[in-house]
Amino acid sequence: MDDAREDSYDVVVVGGGAAGLAGALTLVRARRSVLVIDSGSPRNAPAAHMHGYLGLDGESPAALLARGRLEVEGYGGRIRSGTVVAADLLPGGGFLVRCGDGSTVRAGRLLVATGLVDELPPVPGLGARWGRDVLHCPYCHGWEVGDQPVAVLADGPLAVHQAQMWRHWSARTTLLAHTWPLTEEDREVAAALGIRVVEGEVTGLVVEDDRLTGVGMAGGAVVECRALVVAPRFTARSGVLTGLGLPMTDMVRDGHVIGRCVASDPETGATALPGVWVAGNVTAPLEKVAGAAAQGVRAAAALNADLIGAETRRAVAARRAGAAADTVRG
Ligand SMILES: Cc1cc2nc3c(=O)[nH]c(=O)nc-3n(C[C@H](O)[C@H](O)[C@H](O)COP(=O)(O)OP(=O)(O)OC[C@H]3O[C@@H](n4cnc5c(N)ncnc54)[C@H](O)[C@@H]3O)c2cc1C
Repeated sequence: MDDAREDSYDVVVVGGGAAGLAGALTLVRARRSVLVIDSGSPRNAPAAHMHGYLGLDGESPAALLARGRLEVEGYGGRIRSGTVVAADLLPGGGFLVRCGDGSTVRAGRLLVATGLVDELPPVPGLGARWGRDVLHCPYCHGWEVGDQPVAVLADGPLAVHQAQMWRHWSARTTLLAHTWPLTEEDREVAAALGIRVVEGEVTGLVVEDDRLTGVGMAGGAVVECRALVVAPRFTARSGVLTGLGLPMTDMVRDGHVIGRCVASDPETGATALPGVWVAGNVTAPLEKVAGAAAQGVRAAAALNADLIGAETRRAVAARRAGAAADTVRG
């Protein structure tokens, strides 16, 4: 890339997780100038291993992203560490992207793949074990704790569903009633599946030799478990998008709000604002790494098609203007 284009790119990708890097790889291979700006906190960073990603099952999350960065850079893409704090729509089209360090960069199009924040239940000590033995997704971690004692914390409407799911991986699943009022139907489901229900509030975690061994209950009892399952509330990292006027919407599951994200076309990731695409957990909180990467690829292809469309319209207009000038001269 020549110096004249140093601070101006066809596309700036905000967020360099699986979605952003997969999108960037597609765009650099489509001969686009691309800058990825990434603040370095992918959602699964607390987990030592990434599971269910075909060809790289068990790889560390950091290793996948390191490979992805090298691949993007191998085609001339740029990757910068930093935080995008805002993006402004430019009068002549395109965007001015503002970073936390005060620097700015121009972008013809934006691909925003900033992921989400998992808001965890306020149980003391729980955050420190997140992604290790405080878990949420059986497809990510279920195999690793199969047949071991698993406890599901009921503090919201998904608890019974989660208990049913985890029961599939371990018959030693316990439902901790905690702060959620279980219905008679919930209790019937639990009884039918052999899920033990423990009443009372969870007050803390029991950790021995850096390993979860149980949860402490109000009153002093301890319930043995090797994994504690929780239902985080998903909140998209959407500051850049909301600043551009794209609001967050509720994500509803079985009639309950389980998080907030930014709406987009499910096929292309196009948002309501022309020139801005989204991919990954910022728009689809339930996507795993493979799904987030796939969304990045689809959004990048749609974005590139949009650029080709704009370039074609300009070429046709220029050709017509040239023909008109020839007519006048002739
Ligand atoms: C504990 C845990 C374990 C998991 N394990 C698995 C697993 O085994 N297998 C699996 O398939 N999925 C797993 N997942 C899900 C997985 O983390 C997500 O599917 C995936 O991270 C989504 O990718 P993404 O690119 O959308 O977002 P992220 O991976 O979160 O990447 C977003 C990136 O954007 C950056 N960013 C955010 N805001 C800004 C900004 N303003 N400026 C610049 N950069 C910014 C962040 O720093 C981050 O690097 C797990 C999730 C958790 C919480």
